[in-house]
Amino acid sequence: MSFVDQLGRPLRSLRVSVTDRCNLRCQYCMPEAEYVWLPREGLLSFEEIVRLVDVFAGLGVDKIRLTGGEPLLRRNLPDLVRLLAADRRLTDLTLTTNGVLLADHAEALRAAGLMRLTVSLDTLQPDRFRTLTRLTTHARVLEGLEAAARLFSTLKIDSVIMRGVNDDELIPLVEYARAHHAEVRFIEYMDVAGATQWAADTVVSRAEILQRLEAHYGPLEPLDDSVWAPADRFRLPDGAVIGVIASTTNPFCGTCDRARLTADGLWLTCLYATDGIDLRAPLRAGTPPAELAARVEQAWRARSDRGAELRAADRKRGIYIPASTLKGNSHLEMHTRGG
Ligand code: SAM
Ligand code: SF4
Ligand code: SF4
Repeated sequence: MSFVDQLGRPLRSLRVSVTDRCNLRCQYCMPEAEYVWLPREGLLSFEEIVRLVDVFAGLGVDKIRLTGGEPLLRRNLPDLVRLLAADRRLTDLTLTTNGVLLADHAEALRAAGLMRLTVSLDTLQPDRFRTLTRLTTHARVLEGLEAAARLFSTLKIDSVIMRGVNDDELIPLVEYARAHHAEVRFIEYMDVAGATQWAADTVVSRAEILQRLEAHYGPLEPLDDSVWAPADRFRLPDGAVIGVIASTTNPFCGTCDRARLTADGLWLTCLYATDGIDLRAPLRAGTPPAELAARVEQAWRARSDRGAELRAADRKRGIYIPASTLKGNSHLEMHTRGG
């Protein structure tokens, strides 16, 4: 199957959120005191997720990333991984987790056929972790990471860098990743819906991150990777590879082949989209897979999203969607649509 959207982009990657719940409260994602959760009965079952992934795989999607909320809060997640891993059309099956429950599940995930793993880790300092996430589970995250490093040959560590919060940890995070055979990716703080405390002056730009790394390590060599990957990767003079995801200052919408599926079956063609297409209702109503595929293909062909580019072009850029609006529509939240 080969079709592209209005900007010539194919549909190749799907991020599947398996829950909107989370066991952390990261400042840049869930800073509010209370949240409205998706009703449990509305969540797609594993069987329903597999049926939808089958439709997407038939349309050319070969990369699946499980995410959330915190995906390891979803009971028996390795069962879903096993079902998805049986689909030989998928060349990449990966998971993004905050690591809190990873030590308990890493082995089962590997055995179920998970190919790669990304762990979010913004700080190596327990006190700072508590300030950033409101929880005291830092040691559990490090245990999870260590278990994952033993089991997975491809491990990534994602760190959102915020000025005055953790921007003094670039070098320690590079060294921690190196010691665990992992690749660290520094992510610019994004003004996604949910980031209700976002402010332009807390963003540490790609340019500044690279400049600080070069000041410490010497010249970085840009790696010539696939243009479809969100991270720009660089090799340090000593051989370690790092990535930078510059969604805020240098968006990459022009090469975006990604879509997202919320835990209750809303399909979103952009991280910044304010609406999506409900796939759960037709699925539960018994719509044949070919018809679901036709709907998805039609919507993708019409797609012209470039949310991060539009945000970057906004001279008066501030909070994208205020907390009061988010309370009435949890589908807008980053923790509902998956990172
Ligand atoms: N809970 C899991 C985790 O944290 O890895 C998976 C879901 S989380 C929404 C996915 C990714 O989104 C995380 O790496 C997180 O750091 C990132 N993220 C959330 N809010 C962000 C923001 N405002 N700017 C940049 N990245 C953000
Ligand atoms: Fe943090 Fe991920 Fe939870 Fe958001 S979903 S609060 S980024 S752990
Ligand atoms: Fe893709 Fe939308 Fe993100 Fe741009 S903002 S890279 S179009 S998901």
